[in-house]
Amino acid sequence: MRAFSRFILETYLSISDLNEYLDSKRGSGASIGFVPTMGALHDGHMSLLKESKEKCGITVCSIFVNPTQFNDPKDYQLYPKNTEKDKKILEETGCDCLFLPNVEEIYPYDEFKQITFDPGSLGDVLEGAHRPGHFAGMASVVKRLLDIVRPDNAFFGQKDYQQFLIVHKMVEFYKLPIEIVKCPTVRENNGLAMSSRNQRLSAEEREKASLIYKTLTWAEHEINAGRLNFETIIKQAMFDLTEKGEFKVDYFDICGSNTLEHVDFRKDNEKLAVLTAVWVRDIRLIDNLLV
Ligand code: AMP
Repeated sequence: MRAFSRFILETYLSISDLNEYLDSKRGSGASIGFVPTMGALHDGHMSLLKESKEKCGITVCSIFVNPTQFNDPKDYQLYPKNTEKDKKILEETGCDCLFLPNVEEIYPYDEFKQITFDPGSLGDVLEGAHRPGHFAGMASVVKRLLDIVRPDNAFFGQKDYQQFLIVHKMVEFYKLPIEIVKCPTVRENNGLAMSSRNQRLSAEEREKASLIYKTLTWAEHEINAGRLNFETIIKQAMFDLTEKGEFKVDYFDICGSNTLEHVDFRKDNEKLAVLTAVWVRDIRLIDNLLV
């Protein structure tokens, strides 16, 4: 008989069952790592789970497609879902616990749908400017999930860099005793940032979408070389994405990496972020590089 050890993934639908499990783990001294996701898991999510496993005793993943952060109802409807496949991935990654609540569990009262935290100008630019209400919904659900799970560490991807900055600020605002860990963006071989939405792209579109990363790395190179001014870099990048890629571009911008305020030039080697959002057909993709 073939012997194999398989990780047991504890799955909880309710907050009370999850808490009972986590309290017993905390009682035996385990630290809790948390990876909130919307499912349709890929290697990007797995890298966050692996980082949590390295850092923490117990790793919890949540899968919850949060309706309040979708400003486009069609995007919510078409968001890929495959819970059985996700469970297999979580087992293979050695994740200890899946929290899989439904909408009523997360939002028994409307008050949970909108917290008072205001991310200020961080929430107004880039994604905030193009997706009204998105960050209010995102911050509210992340606060709700952090209050439920009460992790020691929570792991977020750099791919959603503005989200990471806002969550970080929110955790400081509420003085939550949680370390927010930023994990590097995981990419396909051609450079395209992994995303659940990539599942909706054809093979040809995925190949074409690699132009997003190529354009970001070109901009990074130009910034570091100091040859072109930022306005020219942005214009050229927008032109390449629009003309060569035939994408609709929501933004391509060079910003201070902490404030996300647009900058025209680099002051004293300050850290910058180059960020973009483009539409490939009706699928919106975002990516960024820290320079
Ligand atoms: P999502 O399921 O898209 O809400 O993402 C859940 C978490 O995974 C977020 O912290 C994302 O930033 C992170 N994530 C998504 N894609 C990637 C990626 N390609 N590399 C690293 N982290 C990612």
